[in-house]
Amino acid sequence: MTSDLPKDARAVAFQDGKLQVPDHPILPFIRGDGTGPDLWAASVRVFDAAVAKAYGGKRKIAWLELMAGEASFQASGEWLPQATLESLRKYRVAIKGPLTTPVGGGIRSLNVALRQILDLYACVRPVSWVEGVPAPVKQPDQLDVVIFRENTEDVYAGIEWQAHSKEADRLIEFVNNELKPKNKIRAGSGVGIKPISAFGTERLVRMALQYALDHGRRSVTLVHKGNIMKYTEGSFRDWGYALAQKEFSAQIVREEELWSSMDGKLPAGKLLVNDRIADAMFQQVLLRPAEYSVLATPNLNGDYLSDACAAQVGGLGMAPGANIGDGFAVFEATHGTAPKYAGQDKVNPGSLILSGAMMFDYLGWGEAAALIRSGVAAAVSTKKVTYDLARQLAGATTVRCSEFADGIIAAIG
Ligand code: NAP
Repeated sequence: MTSDLPKDARAVAFQDGKLQVPDHPILPFIRGDGTGPDLWAASVRVFDAAVAKAYGGKRKIAWLELMAGEASFQASGEWLPQATLESLRKYRVAIKGPLTTPVGGGIRSLNVALRQILDLYACVRPVSWVEGVPAPVKQPDQLDVVIFRENTEDVYAGIEWQAHSKEADRLIEFVNNELKPKNKIRAGSGVGIKPISAFGTERLVRMALQYALDHGRRSVTLVHKGNIMKYTEGSFRDWGYALAQKEFSAQIVREEELWSSMDGKLPAGKLLVNDRIADAMFQQVLLRPAEYSVLATPNLNGDYLSDACAAQVGGLGMAPGANIGDGFAVFEATHGTAPKYAGQDKVNPGSLILSGAMMFDYLGWGEAAALIRSGVAAAVSTKKVTYDLARQLAGATTVRCSEFADGIIAAIG
């Protein structure tokens, strides 16, 4: 699989908790299903143009294609071949287009499988407005948050049983008769389990705090529903605060301290750590968006909040994302395969392209990332945009997926 790679290309390494990125890294990519091939063809040209412009040939990526999804299933009968998993482990940092979720197959979802196998425990979604993108709110520029969503626990862990199944009936009987809760579970219910651990919470909150410190962000907000779910989401809040105090005490200020002894003014270089109840947070991002910066949250809240925030700044077509673990990361478009547009060179490659910018930041290639972001903004400002943006933008010209990428590349120069 690696025989076509240039001789001087090397794998990204991970030592003492830090990535070691060579000048010619091998980065695997999965083209994706449906519109994935169109999106990848457009995006990779933007990535190569940004790297060439930023580093003038000193740095260059050796792209390595990996098979997964429907295309892989049709070619080999496997949705997620072992060779793909081995390469993802070996090369550590990868980017992917959207994948079809198998219906009725052995794998529940390829994306979930990848997260579990590589232990990509944080779903990271930066949400900020790209100037010129049509948005449903009056001041979309006020929202600039990075959401760290726990990826492995909560009701999304997949521990659930169908109503009337043997397992559900046994569990209901055990809970009702042995644990004797105040409110009994109704017979014949479907049941799911919501595990949230100190381990899962601490590593997620640690990553969010470290990110905020590394990127000069003002605050980290723990978003939870702990007023109701005290021992899961409430513990997420408590463990989060305890971790912040234990490992970052010199750098953080809690909201109580801010008001009790600092007159509401955060000292320079300090990071504010606070928490919000999840439902209030949905109001806050709409009503007081500028007050929030980094959000750390359990899986279910994070899923809803990420998409709601993305919609606020103009939708999923432009929202980048990544799933990150310790020394492993997969960057991905946040939308699906949009199969009805497959092969039409039509859809918006913005999400995949901006996910690439996140990947370059993660690799420490910030110059390439900045060129991509400014290139996207410049392309949008010409109003020559894909159909999804054009239909909301007065005076816009609809261009193809590949032409939108051409516009970004022209702006990169
Ligand atoms: P979808 O593929 O995201 O498409 C829903 C609609 O969103 C499209 O019809 C289109 O809207 C719009 N859209 C999505 N991507 C766009 C883009 N790049 N540019 C412009 N518009 C875009 O959702 P779905 O139809 O529910 O899912 C299809 C398949 O994708 C399923 O197999 C699903 O499991 C999978 N999926 C994969 C991922 C992933 O790999 N990360 C994520 C979600 C879903 P209009 O029709 O209004 O133009």
